Amino acid sequence: MTLKRIYVAGHRGMVGSALVRALQDNPGIELITASRAELDLLDQPAVSDFVSRQSPDVIYIAAARVGGIHANNAYPAEFIYENLATETNLIHAAHTAGVQQLLSLGSSCIYPKHAPQPMREEALLTGLLEPTNEPYAIAKIAGIKLCESYNRQYGRDYRSVMPTNLYGPGDNFHPTDSHVIPGLIRRFHEAKINGDPRVVVWGTGEVRREFLHVDDLARACVQVMETSCADYAAVTEPMCSHINVGTGQDVTIRELAEQIAEVVGFEGELIFDNSKPDGTPRKLLDNRRMESLGWSPSVFFPQGLVGTYEWFLSNGDAVK
Ligand code: GDP
Repeated sequence: MTLKRIYVAGHRGMVGSALVRALQDNPGIELITASRAELDLLDQPAVSDFVSRQSPDVIYIAAARVGGIHANNAYPAEFIYENLATETNLIHAAHTAGVQQLLSLGSSCIYPKHAPQPMREEALLTGLLEPTNEPYAIAKIAGIKLCESYNRQYGRDYRSVMPTNLYGPGDNFHPTDSHVIPGLIRRFHEAKINGDPRVVVWGTGEVRREFLHVDDLARACVQVMETSCADYAAVTEPMCSHINVGTGQDVTIRELAEQIAEVVGFEGELIFDNSKPDGTPRKLLDNRRMESLGWSPSVFFPQGLVGTYEWFLSNGDAVK
């Protein structure tokens, strides 16, 4: 049997490690990975050399500079530069090395701040972006357009997946740079340990977010890549490479914070700090294309939160 050689770029991150979990037991697949020390994805000649030497059949781009609302605001230069460079280096190297199939990972923040909800794939480039993460979103839109351009000009089969807000094992629990779920898990946990009576939650708590477990995303990515060109083209627009992955359900940040407090066992008071940005008012994805491929999410949200808290507890040293 000829093994399909799949390179997962960014295999140590939250998404990349979920992709490795989803792919590694398939006997028809040979996984290729490279640590940051072995391959700097910002180094274009090194990336070209690696991809042409390894000559994979498929590339999944899970490598990205990611972070929550504060990190996006604080480090806009790194967020636009590192994501653009990673995508351009890998996508161009894939094409040059004759790699026919590739998956690029984006984000629901590519859609306009005031896009109609739930947001359809067609909402792309129909309005202004949310300012707190515009540089990151521009880089991710460029990733979609890179895929579409190589498809259009060279007949490549490069697809991109736009997940809603992700969470799960392997997340970044940094006190300020993380996304809301790991950020609040850590803050509630530390308040519980220290006996603090109250915890600060950023923003008004009134904005809404949709959350997807990273293992559900990994299954969706594999499914997208296993779908034939004809079946994929039947659910997407002509020459349109991107597809949404969400759960179809969202919660307010207040509801989320209350759920996390319960999972962690913090019984004190929640204080909403209106001086911190809320970001976009709502970010719910229209999931119909993904559902028509036969995928649906399987991780029940409260259980996913419990599993993520357990991961945090058992990897405490790694997440400091
Ligand atoms: P966003 O979807 O890009 O805004 O990603 P985030 O996960 O960073 O933030 C989601 C929402 O949670 C925003 O309205 C934040 O203001 C709010 N939020 C509340 N507390 C926190 C926190 O401790 N960390 C982060 N990152 N966001 C928080």
